[in-house]
Amino acid sequence: MSRKTIEAFRASVLKAYVTCPMMCRFRYVDGYIPEQRSSGLIRGSALHAAVHTIHRESLFKDSVDVLRQKWDEAVAEEPEVPISDEDKLEGQKADAEEIIQGYASKKYNRDADVVLSEARFTVDIGKHKFTGTIDQIRRKNGALQLLDFKSDLAVPEDSYLANDYQFSIYSYAMRHGEFIFDDDTKLILKEFPSDLFWYHLRHHLPYKKSGKWGKAGDERGDPFIPVNRTEADLARIEHEISQIVRGIKMGCFFKSPAKIGSCAGFCSYTGVCSGTVEPRKRESGAELADMTELVAT
Ligand code: SF4
Repeated sequence: MSRKTIEAFRASVLKAYVTCPMMCRFRYVDGYIPEQRSSGLIRGSALHAAVHTIHRESLFKDSVDVLRQKWDEAVAEEPEVPISDEDKLEGQKADAEEIIQGYASKKYNRDADVVLSEARFTVDIGKHKFTGTIDQIRRKNGALQLLDFKSDLAVPEDSYLANDYQFSIYSYAMRHGEFIFDDDTKLILKEFPSDLFWYHLRHHLPYKKSGKWGKAGDERGDPFIPVNRTEADLARIEHEISQIVRGIKMGCFFKSPAKIGSCAGFCSYTGVCSGTVEPRKRESGAELADMTELVAT
């Protein structure tokens, strides 16, 4: 067996590897089609696409129509992958409509100076090339802000945000990388973000009932969750990231969770992993686009 050089990594590959190296291999190296996808995943895709479109085309007044269109596209995206909780789709769609309405109604979003949206980048970290897409970069008071839109149920712990490789790689890309557009033109910002935010979209979802948490109709909180990164942090992540990349390049894949069998909530390969489901391989596709060189030959 021989291994070739990997052309480029993505933050999502690192995230999968530190969650479970075997899951990373199934998805990004073997190119196996996930056994299922969730309604939550569809909600996230539709919201991301809707936010991008309403800014790009100034469709704030039509935000719900945009969301509905993006919802249909997200559902239709991977017809070969069954939806695990189809009974929840309608509820998730209703939530997504309220979320995008809340987002579009905010003056701070309508008036935002969006410099880049769904911005593709490439950057070298140590000896390794990374690619990725930053949800949004805004300019405020002369400085750049980095926003990553999230539709997770809960805001993560501070310790998670402090160590999340995605924010580190993205701020590294703003400082040292270049952005590439569809017409192949490039942009170098050379600027470290003054603020980074986990933008918690679900905070736009109004409470259904009144209670000690708030009144019915009130939004759930400030969506801007600050994430701390400094330029000094970047030197540290260079080393950490190089170690992870080395593990992937050496083919060091193993089953990680202490209690195998408790992974159904986050892994789409539990059947393949336990040997009860025959893997289905992607013939081509975005998942493998940056990782094809790692396929064992
Ligand atoms: S089922 Fe669990 S151990 Fe197996 S690949 Fe998925 S996350 Fe890893």
